[in-house]
Amino acid sequence: MSSTIRNADEKINMDQLIHKKVALASLCSFGTGGAADYLAIPTNLNELRISLHWAKSRQLPITMLGRGTNVLIADDGIEGLVILTTRLDSHHARGCIFCSEGGLSLDTAINIAIENSLSGLEPLGGLPGTVAGAVYGNAGANGRYIGELIEWVEYLDPAGNLLRYHNKEGGFSYKKSPFTNSDAIIYEVAFRLIPNKNSSKARLIKEQSRTERLEKGQFDLPSAGSVFKNPENISAGKLIEEAGLKGVMQNGAMVSPQHANFIVNSSRRATSQDIFDLSTLMQKRVKELFGITLEREIILLGRWNR
Ligand SMILES: Cc1cc2nc3c(=O)[nH]c(=O)nc-3n(C[C@H](O)[C@H](O)[C@H](O)COP(=O)(O)OP(=O)(O)OC[C@H]3O[C@@H](n4cnc5c(N)ncnc54)[C@H](O)[C@@H]3O)c2cc1C
Repeated sequence: MSSTIRNADEKINMDQLIHKKVALASLCSFGTGGAADYLAIPTNLNELRISLHWAKSRQLPITMLGRGTNVLIADDGIEGLVILTTRLDSHHARGCIFCSEGGLSLDTAINIAIENSLSGLEPLGGLPGTVAGAVYGNAGANGRYIGELIEWVEYLDPAGNLLRYHNKEGGFSYKKSPFTNSDAIIYEVAFRLIPNKNSSKARLIKEQSRTERLEKGQFDLPSAGSVFKNPENISAGKLIEEAGLKGVMQNGAMVSPQHANFIVNSSRRATSQDIFDLSTLMQKRVKELFGITLEREIILLGRWNR
């Protein structure tokens, strides 16, 4: 197996696949953070494996990045190799199974499923990010979590072996998947969807969900969605709002005046540290007032040293 990779390695122009010192702020929705030591943008499974092999042979850590809509990248950047998945975007439908490479935008995946008369994903309409990013954190909206629709996930282990995870009950839970905090690289996802000839109704549900997000102003300012997970039976946003934190600023970062669980880079000049410090203040105030520890939903990537 490794020789196949090595042979392919020779054929591929590594300068085109792997780039040194690449600024990441424009590749994440907060618009903050430093550079990747190295960035690979594979376009197929072979290039993904070669990127993995390249990093492993240099003993460099690997960080996966989709559309960067759920992460806070350290101002000092990310060590080792960052693999950006957004060009891994092929897909196909057969019967009620819709398969997508992990880098396809979730919104596009929903549109393609509807075009193929397949329903189920549309309550997630307008949710930013890639298919793999959504699977990693079991993203959800309007009462639907992506894990509910998954038949199987193909992923690479650190040695580059392609393995298949068959979804079973309990595999996915609130904002958690079998891939959360693991070193698996999600490559392809198969969804089991519901045949539905009434594509106009499915399209309407999807568009309603997207429009509601726009009307709530979710995309007006740079953010990464909800900063904290909801504690059991309580909304994190409600706790933060009751703590009087809506609109509070930390240098260039602000607790969104519209949605208390969002931090927005309102000045577009905030650093990741400003956002982190503001999130710490939110945690502290909520703990002092309600005795509840808020758990961060946004994922810290890179050199945080904490
Ligand atoms: C305005 C706004 C609204 C949002 N609303 C919601 C919402 O309603 N519900 C919700 O659940 N989330 C929401 N989010 C958060 C975010 O959109 C989702 O979590 C999304 O699914 C993340 O996808 P991504 O591609 O951006 O992942 P990224 O942010 O790029 O990565 C997230 C995590 O997944 C890992 N990862 C990415 N790709 C792979 C891979 N191929 N293999 C292994 N690991 C991988 C990364 O290393 C990182 O740890 C919102 C965000 C924004 C900005």
